Amino acid sequence: MKRVADHLSDILETIRPLPALDVQLLDAHGCVLIEDVVAPWPLPQFDNSAMDGYAVLADDVAGASEDDPVELPVVADIAAGDLQVSAISSGLTARIMTGAPMPARADAVVPVEHTDGGTARVRITSPAKPSAHVRRAGEDVNSGDVVLGAGTYLGAPQIGLLAAVGRDRVAVRPKPRIVVISTGSELVEPGNPVALGQITDSNSFSLTAAAREAGALAYRIPPVPDDPDRLLGLIEDQLVRADMVITTGGVSAGAYDVVKEVLSRLGTVAFEKVAMQPGKPQGFGTIGEESTPIFTLPGNPVSAFVSFEVFVRPAIRKMFGAARLHRQSVKAVLQQTLRSPEGRRQFARARLQPSSDGSYLVTPLGTQESHRLGDLAYANSLIVVPEHITEVTAGQVVDAMRLEHRKD
Ligand code: AMP
Ligand code: MG
Repeated sequence: MKRVADHLSDILETIRPLPALDVQLLDAHGCVLIEDVVAPWPLPQFDNSAMDGYAVLADDVAGASEDDPVELPVVADIAAGDLQVSAISSGLTARIMTGAPMPARADAVVPVEHTDGGTARVRITSPAKPSAHVRRAGEDVNSGDVVLGAGTYLGAPQIGLLAAVGRDRVAVRPKPRIVVISTGSELVEPGNPVALGQITDSNSFSLTAAAREAGALAYRIPPVPDDPDRLLGLIEDQLVRADMVITTGGVSAGAYDVVKEVLSRLGTVAFEKVAMQPGKPQGFGTIGEESTPIFTLPGNPVSAFVSFEVFVRPAIRKMFGAARLHRQSVKAVLQQTLRSPEGRRQFARARLQPSSDGSYLVTPLGTQESHRLGDLAYANSLIVVPEHITEVTAGQVVDAMRLEHRKD
């Protein structure tokens, strides 16, 4: 049997990052930037008020108090968006709104709450230090700064920053488009009646969701029955829109294992036994004119999901240029003895909990059989037991791979 590490490195050697694309700003959300973005102007771009209030010379209001207010004539009214730069001089004030440009010579803003709100003359009842409530040009970002470097993942705040420095398009690695296909004549779509002997297709849902969580644009296809011609036709049709294809089912040694049968004929997909549990039967290769990567994952729901985590997720992340390909692993104290098959790397569903001293505790769930989805949905981590270990006893420290999307 092939080792997990060897299978993964073969996959990652084949997978290439997608070519860069210049996209509209919102289409870059969730992608990885591949250029350094330089601010063409400072942020803020000009000195402006942080409050609704009155622009003053701090010296003029230094003695202001409730009992002894300073009264000043209001010589201008400055709104956000005003293009003319006003000016004041000692003994005068301008009413100013949040975000409006500071008038020349003013060095502080008195919030409206510390005044009587007057429009012709205003009574100011508290002092303001120089620079109070003034946002200085460039205090956030300097003109010429690299605000985001190549390799940055573009989440919501990064998209906002790009807009703030005037970018409407950016160069990114696009999200890989992934088509997920379940195979099996027993499968029906959820929402439809299920006859005895049939089951609802859950793999294509979990894997499409997992691919999206990994950063891809994933599409699911209704399940295909175990019919070689239909499967081949479907895969060929889907290749036009796919950067990667994932199938599940039909790769073990059964009589109707069509995925194996069909793709073996093409000769570009290797079907191998990988020394792991769950997930032994694995297929990977490339198909079609564009050498599109294809993963053929096992049909058992837990095997399919674990295989995705171990092999497919890092491949997706390499395609879109993510800095971190792998899930975070932590050391955790095992709460319950766990047996593991000789010679196979085990990925055991588990609940990971932080303990009060900052370390982690981890508890394996259930029997670790690969059809048990209930446990999988409760798991927030996979305990990884190396090939040569057959038992880990309670109290020993193990590696736990975190499935980050589960928040509770
Ligand atoms: P196979 O690899 O096709 O022999 O499938 C192995 C087991 O996984 C069988 O019990 C299948 O019914 C089940 N299975 C296969 N595909 C799916 C799917 N898409 N959703 C849920 N279970 C599945
Ligand atoms: Mg099947």
